[in-house]
Amino acid sequence: MDFVLYFDYAAFLIFAFLIASIFLKRQFVGTGNKIFLAILIVALIANVLDVVASLTWLDTTLLFWLNTFFFAFRCAIAMLLFFYGANLGKVFHKITKRKWPLFITLAPYLILIITLFINPFNKMIFDYLPGPTYVRGPFAWIAYAVGYGYVTAALVIILLSRKSHLKSQVFAVAVAYVLQISASIVQFFVVNMLVEMLITATTLLTLSMYIESPENFIDYKTGCRSFQSFTNEISQRFDLGNEFGVMLIQIRNTSALYNLYGHKAAIEYTRKFARGIEERIRKADRAALLYYLGDSVFAAIFPKIELGEACFAKVSQEKFDLVLHEDMPFHFITVSCYAHCPKDCRSTESMVSFSTSFFDLTEGSVLKLEAYRQEQGNVLFELDHILEKAIHNKAFSLYYQPIYSIKEGRYNSAEALLRLEDPIFGTILPSLIIPYAENCGKIIDIGNIVLEKSFGFFVSKLRGKLDYLELNVSPLQLIDPGFASSLIAMAKSFGVEAKEIILEITESAAMPDDPSIQGNISALVEAGYRIAIDDFGTGFSNLSRLAQLDIHILKFDISITRMIDKDGRNEFILGLIKLFHGKGMKILFEGVESQDIASLLDKMGADYIQGYLYSPPRPEEVFLSLLD
Ligand code: C2E
Ligand code: MG
Ligand code: MG
Repeated sequence: MDFVLYFDYAAFLIFAFLIASIFLKRQFVGTGNKIFLAILIVALIANVLDVVASLTWLDTTLLFWLNTFFFAFRCAIAMLLFFYGANLGKVFHKITKRKWPLFITLAPYLILIITLFINPFNKMIFDYLPGPTYVRGPFAWIAYAVGYGYVTAALVIILLSRKSHLKSQVFAVAVAYVLQISASIVQFFVVNMLVEMLITATTLLTLSMYIESPENFIDYKTGCRSFQSFTNEISQRFDLGNEFGVMLIQIRNTSALYNLYGHKAAIEYTRKFARGIEERIRKADRAALLYYLGDSVFAAIFPKIELGEACFAKVSQEKFDLVLHEDMPFHFITVSCYAHCPKDCRSTESMVSFSTSFFDLTEGSVLKLEAYRQEQGNVLFELDHILEKAIHNKAFSLYYQPIYSIKEGRYNSAEALLRLEDPIFGTILPSLIIPYAENCGKIIDIGNIVLEKSFGFFVSKLRGKLDYLELNVSPLQLIDPGFASSLIAMAKSFGVEAKEIILEITESAAMPDDPSIQGNISALVEAGYRIAIDDFGTGFSNLSRLAQLDIHILKFDISITRMIDKDGRNEFILGLIKLFHGKGMKILFEGVESQDIASLLDKMGADYIQGYLYSPPRPEEVFLSLLD
């Protein structure tokens, strides 16, 4: 029996070493790590029991019970290895958070425990004969079968989920599990060859390569759970299909915090802020957890929707004034919103892209955002999904708004404006779509759909009625080095001539630092396309530089149109009109809503007028009948 003990001593050292290293590195956050630690502790206990149970000079009854507990712990290792595999295969939550799957998983172990505790009466698993000599009972195989069952099931789950892991990881873990199974088989046939614990130790040594470090779960700056934990948690919750709530809070004045107090104090304040939020959410729902998503955005996940909603109502009203040192109070400006999942948001992707971009779309106070959320929040949560689908089905439509030429006394052109009809949310406006699409790169695909649809409509229905069409182009499209050539090629394929298109770009895109934008604009101008400056007056342009550019139309933004004083003097605007007329540009006013303003603009020398006075943007058919 001696060599047997050497195996166990070696195993003991490995278990002890692994446990110590986990505690030293504080690697017990996260489900996988927790299960792993549990396996180690259970294995260590089984190991000790195994060693003590082999001391043959002990009392037989004592040996009997030591062995009984050894079996119980031994099989617990197998069951925990199953949970470990289930966690790797991302099904752990599906098993443990539902009654029946959990019961079915635990059942074999429970059966084993029951048989072990009736074993003293019927000796069906094992017995000690005087000597003492260990002998197996007729049902000893049950203990082994339970072990094989768990480990084999885990192996299957790991292999099925192999695509979501590194190949090396799947390979190592699979080998470890196969080893574990073969050790049990050896043990079953060669009773005295007690290598099992050593093999278990080797298995765990292999698995220890995949212990995740605390950095993967915890954000060091705030001490909250990390972005990765957040995505894991919500994808599991979407998987389970239960309702849950997510509260998002962003600190808006982080840069002020850093500028005023320096890096160290800013981190300290941010941590304090996080603790404050954490306290509030825990008070509302003990099971709620706080995450830091980066970019000053915090998220709290509430397993109970109503508790989260109530907590949100409170938190969004609150002022966060923190005083770290007596003379350094800081007032946090925050914005927040609350999502009911899966009602407001159906997938992890939507939630992630929403939580990292919706704050960019809004500015100002909590109140403003709140109003915004109520109107648009639901659409925003879904926007990723909606746009993805609309791009795939080319479901976008274009509305057309006529442009009136004062000099010719007729509609000489129209602007194409993007719309998206959603069966649930109704018409979604470009003010929502464009910034979002620019943020996530979808603008390129959307831009191409706009070109395709507008070219098709112009050639088939508008040619002969209008001189040209005005199309909005995002700076993000212009950054794409292939933009000009693909537009030119597409126009050719539709038979659209360059003079039939005017591309609207913003002031900043017209005076870019980016060579690709410059390259695209020159290529388009060279090919005969004309450029209009959209929303003039909203940027901070260098007017003299703008005047140097080869621009056909300057479109004054609605905010300038609104500045026009009906009775007063509009010298400034008149001056601008003169300046740009002098450079050969035409002047258009956007957002003209009344006849008074239109007449005034006529007197002031404007060339074109666009606005509700003539017509709001209309769908193709309505627009055509308007022209007729
Ligand atoms: P924009 O190019 O300045 O378009 C004019 C906007 O003013 C349109 O809003 C139009 O409906 C609105 N408007 C026109 N006349 C009046 C008026 O008399 N009063 C008021 N209050 N508003 C008026 P819309 O359609 O919501 O588009 C908003 C912006 O979205 C556009 O501003 C443009 O920058 C962008 N956009 C629209 N379609 C596209 C597109 O296909 N591609 C890109 N990149 N941007 C687009
Ligand atoms: Mg425009
Ligand atoms: Mg405009």
